[in-house]
Amino acid sequence: MMIPPAVGLGLELRVLAEEPGMSAALAATQVGDYRDAATVLDFARGVDVVTFDHEHVPQAVLRELVEAGVRVHPGPGALAVAQDKITMRERLAELGAPVPAWARVRDAAELADFLEAHGGAAVVKTPRGGYDGKGVRVVRAADQADDWFLAVAEHGADAALLVEELVDFRRELAQSVARRPSGELRAWPLVETVQRDGVCAEVTAPAPDSEALAGPAAELAASIANGLEVTGVLAVELFETRDGRLLVNELAMRPHNTGHWTIDGAVTSQFEQHLRAVADLPLGDPAPTAPWSVMVNVLGGPADGPMPIRYPEALAARPETRFHFYGKASRPGRKVGHVTTTGGEPGETLARARAAAGFFEG
Ligand code: ADP
Repeated sequence: MMIPPAVGLGLELRVLAEEPGMSAALAATQVGDYRDAATVLDFARGVDVVTFDHEHVPQAVLRELVEAGVRVHPGPGALAVAQDKITMRERLAELGAPVPAWARVRDAAELADFLEAHGGAAVVKTPRGGYDGKGVRVVRAADQADDWFLAVAEHGADAALLVEELVDFRRELAQSVARRPSGELRAWPLVETVQRDGVCAEVTAPAPDSEALAGPAAELAASIANGLEVTGVLAVELFETRDGRLLVNELAMRPHNTGHWTIDGAVTSQFEQHLRAVADLPLGDPAPTAPWSVMVNVLGGPADGPMPIRYPEALAARPETRFHFYGKASRPGRKVGHVTTTGGEPGETLARARAAAGFFEG
């Protein structure tokens, strides 16, 4: 999704892909392990700037790049906050951002204390490597995370899990901004996101009935982007509590699923804006181009499922819908594409997006 705007901006993309045949391989110039410093240094030779489509490049590799004089955006200091959920909670607390009550817990006894203090239910998270709800578990008894305590113990005696209060939220929201190294910053509208089984399912832009929240959410995301000196796109996942407060759930320092609607619904998409920001070019206008945009993810069904067969049918039936497929092998629950519709009324726009995505349900 970064390729079309790179072409438009006249930027040459080079991609270090993990494996041949990945969707990014369209632009791949090299296949290799992003955890190997020599591989990444070799790849970075001759490029103007390095950026990422996930947050998992090890700090040691990032530091070597910086020491070798490579421009890295977002930088290692910012990325460290997105790489570890405990570090994220600590830094957000330092910045004064509102977050759910949380603690780092090293064993079942510490988890029991947290449960007792927070009504007997909590959310336990593995600090590193989780995505799409993997590494997130609701617990109601202190022994329900024993397997994860055992797993983190392998990382040393002081290793810990993150535990948070189980937030009784009204809904989930997301606020994306982009920030240049110079500090120039632009915000897209606040969006509403619906998660199913920990996976983003639908996004509505702007978030309905969010007039009172839009300004505070944009200010919050800007203060985090500035406070952490994020360069590129920062997506801030939020909870709206039943009494109208915003709490920060998670940060992503890259174009994010909750911003895919911008490809078809904003003057400047998150992918173009990310490229502009990391290349330190003036940022584009993030304003929406339609009153409402709705994005619905398409998840893989059984292998060799119905998708290829129904594709022409869907295109024929929904000519106004924007279809995006990632060329990824279909696995149950894996995000393999998305659809976006735009319209004048939120309910009707959502219904059309769901109907278009419905062509691909297994
Ligand atoms: P991931 O890194 O896998 O995306 P998240 O931390 O974003 O994990 O959590 C995934 C989903 O789990 C969230 O979108 C939300 O629906 C739910 N969740 C996470 N933390 C909490 C919490 N403290 N209280 C209630 N629900 C939560």
